[in-house]
Amino acid sequence: MHLVWFRRDLRCLDNRALHAACEANEPVVGLFVETPDQWAAHHMAPIQAGLIEARLKALRDELGALNIPLLVTRAADYKKASETVATLANSLNINAVFVNREYELNEQNRDRQAQQQVEAQGIDWYAYHDRNLFAPGTIRSGKGDAYKVFTPFKKACLRALESMDQSPLKAPVPRADDKRLAAIFASLEPIEFDYPTKSVSAWPTTEKAILDKLRTYCREQAADYKTHRDFPAIEGTSQLSPYLAIGALSPRQCLARLQSEHPNWREPDSGAATWLSELIWRDFYQEVSAQNPSISKKHCFLEWGESVVWDNDNARFEAWKAGKTGFPIVDAAMQQLNTTGWMHNRLRMIVASFLTKDLLIDWRWGEDYFMSKLIDGDFASNNGGWQWSASVGTDAQPYFRIFNPTTQGERFDSDGRFIRRWLPALKEVPGKQIHQPWSWAEKYAQSLDYPKPIVDHAKQRKQALAIFEAAKNQP
Ligand code: FAD
Repeated sequence: MHLVWFRRDLRCLDNRALHAACEANEPVVGLFVETPDQWAAHHMAPIQAGLIEARLKALRDELGALNIPLLVTRAADYKKASETVATLANSLNINAVFVNREYELNEQNRDRQAQQQVEAQGIDWYAYHDRNLFAPGTIRSGKGDAYKVFTPFKKACLRALESMDQSPLKAPVPRADDKRLAAIFASLEPIEFDYPTKSVSAWPTTEKAILDKLRTYCREQAADYKTHRDFPAIEGTSQLSPYLAIGALSPRQCLARLQSEHPNWREPDSGAATWLSELIWRDFYQEVSAQNPSISKKHCFLEWGESVVWDNDNARFEAWKAGKTGFPIVDAAMQQLNTTGWMHNRLRMIVASFLTKDLLIDWRWGEDYFMSKLIDGDFASNNGGWQWSASVGTDAQPYFRIFNPTTQGERFDSDGRFIRRWLPALKEVPGKQIHQPWSWAEKYAQSLDYPKPIVDHAKQRKQALAIFEAAKNQP
């Protein structure tokens, strides 16, 4: 009997470990191990836990239709999870365990340990690269080096796409009836996490609904991605990140759907090519985290980044978290995050820049807060996005290029539609004045139930330049 240990690969279709486990004529059992202590230590958002829990319920039905029972069990943390898997494999008389690889340091250590424990019992261990379009380490420069800059990495990926087959796998064939499987089906307990969860009613969780969402997006919106993607008032991006983050959807499924709906996907200026670039950003950050263990330890990719002397003012951090900074685009974005668990990419860049360059707060504080709220929290993409914004990562935003939160609002939410949606207190502020509501209120002697800006952007900008310069020039 084969055991598939599911982690962040919660799907039946195009799942390499599951597919391989189903290739032989053997009964197959699925397993998921909840690790609440580890999730708490890594600030997993209750809304993401809610999504995983709901997705597991749907996955149990989908696997059930293939005659594969899905066991869900609990272990405090990753170390204990490997023992749980080895013990269960032994008690179920499993002859091979199948997993998809995970690339963060703790997860790699866990898998090394699990493999040893499983193999010590004479059980085979098979691990597959499944998470990305390209397995970490396969995209290399002509000299064989890892890329540190996105554009050449992307070009190399696009070249590789011409020769590497990225088609999604065929659906697994249902398993034959088997007495042992029947006993496991009969023993299944309801799925209920011992970890805080938040409702995910706004997010469909069946594989069919998720694939429908992908198809609809590619068919109806991807062509406009390039022109719409930077404007948070327009729903111009796919909002598929929660599914990619927990592996309810694979990047190969995204690529295949995009290519079939958009034969022009190679044209650099097309919406389809721009969307593909974003999927490649995802691969890029996974690659960076897989190749650099120091990223998992939350070190800055650029060494001098460790010398930045942050202000780390708690009151300012609290104002940022609560969306009470007095900068409307920042506050509206934080309201979107706090209320829905998702935030538009342009806004993630704006609020991350604001936290690090205007409030002079360590990017790691923001990274943790994002993880504690995001439905799509993904270590590599979140860390990569924060290090980029703080100018200390691979291919980062140069430190002297500092977003002005007011002009960012004027540019990307010019009529204030997004701000008005999330900050009702500013509804009455007319037109573009919404970006500087206090100037309007003072000019027209109006009262506003909205905070005054907690910092002076011009002053903070100068200070940011000084602390970054000092860090960079340290001997
Ligand atoms: P689309 O624009 O439709 O893009 C399609 C897919 O490509 C996304 O679903 C995502 O998987 C991937 N993608 C898009 N942009 C990026 C990017 N810049 N980096 C890596 N992958 C990308 N993304 C996460 O999935 N999880 C995170 O925890 C996360 N944290 C971030 C933190 C910061 C500070 C920043 C600046 C970005 C972060 N991102 C993160 C990247 C990006 O903001 C989201 O992936 C995107 O907003 C998700 O929306 P979407 O699905 O509509 O994306």
